[in-house]
Amino acid sequence: MPAPQPPCLNDLELPELTAYVAALGQPAFRAKQIYKWLHQKLVTDFAQMTDQPKALLARLAESAAIAAPVIVRRQQSRDGTVKYLLRLADGNCIETVLMHYRYGYSVCVSTQVGCAMGCRFCASTQAGRVRDLTAGEIAAEVYTVQRELWQRDAAARVSHIVLMGIGEPLHNYDNVLRFLRIISGAGGLNIGMRNISLSTCGLVPQIDRLAKENLQLTLSVSLHAPDDATRSAMMPVNDAFPLEQLIPACRRYQAATGRRISFEYAMVRGVNDSDDMARKLAALLKGMGAHVNLIPVNPVDGSPYSASDDANIRRFCARLQALGQNATVRRRLGADISAACGQLRRETAAAGPETIPETIS
Ligand code: SAH
Repeated sequence: MPAPQPPCLNDLELPELTAYVAALGQPAFRAKQIYKWLHQKLVTDFAQMTDQPKALLARLAESAAIAAPVIVRRQQSRDGTVKYLLRLADGNCIETVLMHYRYGYSVCVSTQVGCAMGCRFCASTQAGRVRDLTAGEIAAEVYTVQRELWQRDAAARVSHIVLMGIGEPLHNYDNVLRFLRIISGAGGLNIGMRNISLSTCGLVPQIDRLAKENLQLTLSVSLHAPDDATRSAMMPVNDAFPLEQLIPACRRYQAATGRRISFEYAMVRGVNDSDDMARKLAALLKGMGAHVNLIPVNPVDGSPYSASDDANIRRFCARLQALGQNATVRRRLGADISAACGQLRRETAAAGPETIPETIS
């Protein structure tokens, strides 16, 4: 058994932090100040909270922690994408990616250590799920990257977030929702929900639950195939929630939130990239006004899949458009640094326990 971890203050929303410091005999304004140190100034050490009484800081340092992952590896791509391997307090490692777009900096965060969903093309799930990340740990991924940016340029700001790293965000629903409140809140980095995308493999009950939250984020659904036989072969989750359940849930989501869903479609040579598949896909999504993102599958070790060639992807895209289905081929960032989720963690794990501590299970 790992040693019990002290409570992590990044996990607390302001009312909870207020209760925490009240229990230490401190007034509410202290909680507000501490919240700002944690979520706006992004300190990693209580000693940096220079406007707090020394005695309080000493008590906090004894009884609580600040999520501060260690950067184990940093891989920089020619296109400016930086992929980080981060080690958490309990020794588990996750990946976080910084992408630079014309409109600003975007961070791709992991939401779990490993993943239980078993998609056959995905490196993150090959060794299963180890544990969920807490809200504070997910936020700390963003904070770690933001601190790195500040070192280069004090004005550089993470403006967008995608929940597309390791893990299935809707399989860690409560912590992810808490993270979204913390990261979008005015007392924190205040990143607007419209600048946040959440990607799911298609957990229907959680899509319905998310619809009720009525958030302005963009929901991406990893579709990857337009019929159950093809999709189940690629994604075991399709056996639990086949297309006849998933697509109506997506329609309900759009109706409830007024936000269009974006569908991810990883193009796999000879599996889902034929003209017939394009026709089926357009028929499946007919009338939704949704967007389809086409992306060549990133080959990973131990997976039988290889990517469709560029000409085929362009033809598939044109076919969808001709059928009235909105589609684009997604620009691939960081292809030269194994930026597909989970690959760096797997590579490092394969290198042996001296570079990556054992995971708990
Ligand atoms: N679990 C969530 C989010 C993490 S994966 C989900 O399934 O959506 C983020 C995206 O990367 C998903 O669309 C996933 O299907 C895709 N993906 C995973 N491995 C890939 C690979 N090898 N090549 C291309 N896309 C991949």
